[in-house]
Amino acid sequence: RVVVVGSLNVDLVTTVPRHPAPGETVLGADLVRLRGGKGANQALAARRAGAAVAIVGRIGDDADGDAYRAAMADAGVDVTCLVTTPGVPTGTALIVVDREGENAIVVAPGANARLDATDVHAAGGLIEAADVVLVQLEIGDEAVRAAADIAERAGTRLVLNASPVRDLPPALLRTADPVVVNEPEAAAYGLTGGEQSVCITLGGRGATWGGTTAAAPHVTPVDTTGAGDAFAGALAAALATGGSAVDALDAAVAAGAEATTWPGAQPV
Ligand code: ADP
Repeated sequence: RVVVVGSLNVDLVTTVPRHPAPGETVLGADLVRLRGGKGANQALAARRAGAAVAIVGRIGDDADGDAYRAAMADAGVDVTCLVTTPGVPTGTALIVVDREGENAIVVAPGANARLDATDVHAAGGLIEAADVVLVQLEIGDEAVRAAADIAERAGTRLVLNASPVRDLPPALLRTADPVVVNEPEAAAYGLTGGEQSVCITLGGRGATWGGTTAAAPHVTPVDTTGAGDAFAGALAAALATGGSAVDALDAAVAAGAEATTWPGAQPV
């Protein structure tokens, strides 16, 4: 089993001829609502890869939260540790894309920011019994640390997608096996993979981990949003189901490439 501790967001997306300057209004195309958030994206990717999956996170006490809970449950993800947060909206990302495909994004974390150590400890039994706990950084430090602590004490493998970049104690990075980052993130953390377990995704060139490099299958990308999440989810699933590092890397690059072939972060 994979336990994912992370975020769930609704992505509100529109396309504009050009980005507005501060104070300016620009008319956009029809609004598209998609489900995203790194935690949910990765949980669904791990499930798609065949692992048993549970998600630990927070949604708002609103229609978006209800719909998200139902969608995760429909996909076969255990939502018993997905907490509904009274009086707080579900996390939302406002995404504006211009004609060149350049995006500008504002994330209102909403319920995700309320995920705390108590929530993670309530899922302690699940994490202790899991093969892999998969964590990203769209949730607060307290929740990240609690997940890492429980995993370390129980001997559960921690896979840490250290994204988006934030200050992290080096000791936390060292407990992950592996830390999964893309190239700009690896540079930001100064991670080279020499002295610890680091898996670096290389976009269309695939990924590398511990001296093994896997090429990505050739695809024609439609939208690369969520490619890194599909990669991390599939990697965790393969490791949880007993795959070797090499097999896991192969499965992960294939899942990452596939995720570039549909619009948005999650398959429809
Ligand atoms: P992120 O999306 O987090 O920035 P990358 O761009 O490194 O991360 O992509 C993550 C993974 O998605 C890659 O390891 C690869 O498997 C897949 N991928 C991304 N872009 C492409 C592409 N153009 N062609 C094939 N696979 C891709």
